[in-house]
Amino acid sequence: MTNRDTAGSDETRLPAYDRVDVSVLVVGAGAAGARTAIELAERGVDDVLVLGKRNHGDAHTTWARGGINGALGIRDPEDSWAIHAADTLNEGHFLNDPAKVETVTEQMPERLRELDEWGMDFSRTEDGEIDQRYFGAQSFRRTAFAGDHTGESMLDTLVARAQELSVPYRENVMVTKLLSDGEQLHGAVGFDMDTGDFLLFNAGTVVLAAGGYAAIYNRHTSRDDENNGDGPALAYDAGAELMDMEFVQFHPTGMAVDETDPEWEPWSGRLVTEAIRGEGGRLYNAEGERFMERYSPDQMELDARDVVARAIAKEVAEGRGTENGGVYLDISHRDEAFIRERLPRMYERFQELGVDMAVEPVEVAPTAHYGMGGVAVDEYGETSVDGLFAIGETMAGVHGANRLGGNSLAETVAFGVVAGERIAGRVDGPGSLPDSVVGGVAEPHFADLAALAGRDGAYDVMDVFTDIQDLLWDHAGILRDGESLQAGLDALDDLRWKAADLDVGPVTSPSFEFAVDVGFMLTAAEAVLRGALARTESRGAHYRTDHAETDPDWQRNIYFERADLGGMTGHTEPVSTPSQAVQDALDEGHELDYHQLE
Ligand SMILES: Cc1cc2nc3c(=O)[nH]c(=O)nc-3n(C[C@H](O)[C@H](O)[C@H](O)COP(=O)(O)OP(=O)(O)OC[C@H]3O[C@@H](n4cnc5c(N)ncnc54)[C@H](O)[C@@H]3O)c2cc1C
Repeated sequence: MTNRDTAGSDETRLPAYDRVDVSVLVVGAGAAGARTAIELAERGVDDVLVLGKRNHGDAHTTWARGGINGALGIRDPEDSWAIHAADTLNEGHFLNDPAKVETVTEQMPERLRELDEWGMDFSRTEDGEIDQRYFGAQSFRRTAFAGDHTGESMLDTLVARAQELSVPYRENVMVTKLLSDGEQLHGAVGFDMDTGDFLLFNAGTVVLAAGGYAAIYNRHTSRDDENNGDGPALAYDAGAELMDMEFVQFHPTGMAVDETDPEWEPWSGRLVTEAIRGEGGRLYNAEGERFMERYSPDQMELDARDVVARAIAKEVAEGRGTENGGVYLDISHRDEAFIRERLPRMYERFQELGVDMAVEPVEVAPTAHYGMGGVAVDEYGETSVDGLFAIGETMAGVHGANRLGGNSLAETVAFGVVAGERIAGRVDGPGSLPDSVVGGVAEPHFADLAALAGRDGAYDVMDVFTDIQDLLWDHAGILRDGESLQAGLDALDDLRWKAADLDVGPVTSPSFEFAVDVGFMLTAAEAVLRGALARTESRGAHYRTDHAETDPDWQRNIYFERADLGGMTGHTEPVSTPSQAVQDALDEGHELDYHQLE
């Protein structure tokens, strides 16, 4: 139901807005949002609305290339969900929530079969089975893939399935605030990015599936207008807790380019898939040394992402990098037909840029790829705010201190099902949005949005946007220390002043969207800096040069929430223990068989 609210039509009154009543609002239409909506529809909940900032079918998920994990045991029958869980905990340096890891790993064989039934074009074995390959730091071949366009194929499949089930969808809507009294969720507000209309959603249940926060760093693998921290910031503002935000995965291989060359500059930081290393790619420094021999003689290029990223950062810092601040990744010992078949998109991309991977190496450098932290949720994906769920890349808990490649696509569909099932079991019509929340939260926010539109401020939105990204890179990058993190927090305060005085276009302009995102980025950035400063140890993706060792006392998660009087307040909690099945798998001590790669 949509009502045009005529609350105000002149300057002295509130801006007008449309009201939409719906039982479940799903904010985000990537794999996580789509899978939740499918689960709800299959369980008979049809009063659902899925929103996304882009056109239907166009979400960040489409950028995932390499694959999705699930212990199907097709190539390696001895694999099992418990060993998958053990690998995930090992890679997460035991900071993951074991229960959430088990939720994902136990479900994944079924989720992969289901995607297959729904038409996903998985690459196949000679026998026509779903093919599975190695990904870094995994014990067995359990990464299923669709060429090197796995995310695109997956989202196409999920969107088609959602359309088959007639799931209602509205595209190009940006949510700017959740409606909450701090304990109970009542809906959300936002705007239509095409028309500029303000929108009020009355919904007793909101599922935040709005992606992560890696794009708050200046060299990153996401699109500039996604992964800016919308999900975590919206939840935090509504009273939910953020968890482990300091853990940001720097993918070892982003494109290292000449940033003064306009043809290459847009490619800076873009992901060069791990699958190249999975297929046998080797890393060399500018002196022609296969330098991983020094850092990880057994695991070499397939060691964990944090280990490889730090190794490259060190090579570059010590003067053995390329002119563009990277190293070489070489797969030219494989023949062209193999590369074309296994890595078609990568091959084409470099070919278009004039580099033939079959005869020469490509240049790579670390790039911010994934935020392991996010919104703290329970076993069903629900936050501490009743009715607010957070899933997919927005949630925290599955990946711990470092994420296994192929596990985040897995998390999206696994938690989509868990959250959908939970919601379907208790939803009973649209919420009863209290007048106090409309008058006390929604309408003042609409007034703020109206004031932001067309604001003639002193600072360019994109300048402040990139200032935040630079600050994160400089102060909370691959190598961190207490002094620099504190300086980063101080500098962030200065940026808040600038963010309050932005020069912004109308509601339908990109600058308006980015101005809203600047607010989200500030929240995410503060949580990253505070978490990294508090965690006086090194673990997984978080490396403190002034606390270089892992401290067993820090096997704790760090939480931040909004204090009653404003400002971020934090606490820590110990991590719980895994089930006996997973502990047994851990005790078995599985290791990768690297010889399979050659
Ligand atoms: C280059 C790249 C390659 C990757 N490769 C792999 C891989 O091979 N395997 C793997 O497991 N993982 C991979 N990942 C990670 C994986 O792609 C993501 O974690 C996953 O797709 C996230 O899905 P999601 O549904 O949670 O969020 P997304 O796909 O990011 O979707 C978020 C949705 O929320 C919407 N949204 C955001 N903010 C708002 C707002 N304020 N209002 C309204 N809507 C909003 C967006 O429009 C979008 O619809 C890769 C990531 C990158 C960057």
